[in-house]
Amino acid sequence: MEKETPMSKFIFVTGGVTSSLGKGIIAASLAKLLQARGLHVTIQKFDPYINIDPGTLNPYEHGECYVTEDGAETDLDLGHYERFLNIHTTQANNVTTGRIYQTVINKEREGAFLGKTVQVVPHITDEIKRRMKLLGQTGDYDIVITEIGGTVGDIESLPFIEALRQLQWELPIEDTVVVHLTLIPYLKAAKELKTKPTQHSVRMLSEEGVHPDVIVCRTEKPLSPELKRKIALFCNVKPEAVVEAADASIIYEVPVLMMREGLDTTVLKKLHLAGTQQPDLNRWKIFLDKLKYPKAKVNIGLIGKYIELQDAYKSILESFIHAGAINECQVQVVNIHSESITTGNVNEQLAGLDGLLVAPGFGHRGVEGKIAAVRYAREKKLPFFGICLGMQMAAIEFARNVLGLRGANSTEMDPGTTDPVIDLMDQQKQVTEKGGTMRLGAYPCVIEKDSLASRIYAKEKISERHRHRWEFNNKYLTDFEKAGMLASGKNPDTGLVEIIELNDHPFFIGVQYHPELKSTVEEPQPIFVHFIKAALQHAQQPFSKSIQPLHS
Ligand code: GLN
Repeated sequence: MEKETPMSKFIFVTGGVTSSLGKGIIAASLAKLLQARGLHVTIQKFDPYINIDPGTLNPYEHGECYVTEDGAETDLDLGHYERFLNIHTTQANNVTTGRIYQTVINKEREGAFLGKTVQVVPHITDEIKRRMKLLGQTGDYDIVITEIGGTVGDIESLPFIEALRQLQWELPIEDTVVVHLTLIPYLKAAKELKTKPTQHSVRMLSEEGVHPDVIVCRTEKPLSPELKRKIALFCNVKPEAVVEAADASIIYEVPVLMMREGLDTTVLKKLHLAGTQQPDLNRWKIFLDKLKYPKAKVNIGLIGKYIELQDAYKSILESFIHAGAINECQVQVVNIHSESITTGNVNEQLAGLDGLLVAPGFGHRGVEGKIAAVRYAREKKLPFFGICLGMQMAAIEFARNVLGLRGANSTEMDPGTTDPVIDLMDQQKQVTEKGGTMRLGAYPCVIEKDSLASRIYAKEKISERHRHRWEFNNKYLTDFEKAGMLASGKNPDTGLVEIIELNDHPFFIGVQYHPELKSTVEEPQPIFVHFIKAALQHAQQPFSKSIQPLHS
């Protein structure tokens, strides 16, 4: 039996006026401030779409699919939560309408509703409430922040807002707080900030039975005290509950901006938790200083096929920010579309780079461009980092151009290839359903001594997260190793290759897993950190054959 009384307090974050206002960043920033006061906090996201999870979504739809330790394919906001808070999230931290309905419908098939008509209210809203309370009942958290995806007024958000209304009614008044994020647009012609859309969105939320306690206003111009008073008066909150969220050039600055605006203090007051110490953001501020005042700069080519949409590579870009800060170096990411690279133009396309990252991906579009880019990095001794598909491309390039297996490929791209150096494992061959069936989540990896990987990680056993179906084909491993490409990391249980690297190269590493999913402000991911170090070295001595390999 689940406990009736949730042990944590609950903060809900809703959004009004438009989407893409950055609810995830505001939620993560508030969580950071609370955590920096010594409170135990987690964040969950409720998404109103009907997909069971975002795993089946094209990156052009919602950006990157973020994978947790337990193998859940989740919304990219969970990445922000982990990067800000340095905590792990799980499947329970991301719930979609699809998952809610699936649970209710499965229960109906089991006969659990005893002949009742199953309805949105109460059955769907009950299931939403159950999941909203779940993490709060573990006893692990003082506060659970719930971000409700979508925009107030959307048809699909209604059941979530109704569940929130009911939960507020059920719980003691000091156990919940609602933060509503809106936009205050600036009209150039009138030279004025406009509050009407915010008034309307608060009214809409109120019509649905929920009144915000705090209104966070995204704005490109500062809000005057008069304007804050006006918003407060018409939206029926106290003036101190109107918080300005000025556009920030760096998302990591938002916690500091929110602290200045007193968001955490206002929230804690409502939760009757006021009186705790001030947030200790010293380490965070040191990170921000390093980020804002770099001493050097490197140009890193990001080769991918979704580069038009930066959210598709969110975790990679954030990992570069973390790794850049620790190296006190600005990482200038140069986006290069893999489809635009050919063997004929690769030299011009990649000129001036200090490092090359070949991105993850699915399907054959753009892979030949990725292979040409890998060859360039290998031959020119340019620091190279391949992630998942990027690692697979590095193996294929090596097979074709070093081992002379001209037709080498992955069976994902060419099922009839003569040399399937990347192939499906037997388990995957039986898979027919697409959703949640890849190799997902954390797996262990044992690292070879005296390798580049062992110098990077400085330990023998690591664990990293996965999201892929294809694997390095171990039938080719001896030939690869004889020719100088080593498998320096392997899964200890299955022998699957996790890391490949080149002997005679200053920095060339490919990983089957997704290291970008574990980089946080406090713990930048080590491969990214060393990759930027190698790029810095390259920037000082470009294309020099005399560079000492980092691992010698
Ligand atoms: N498409 C490849 C696979 O499924 C790589 C996946 C990825 O890059 N995440 O194995």
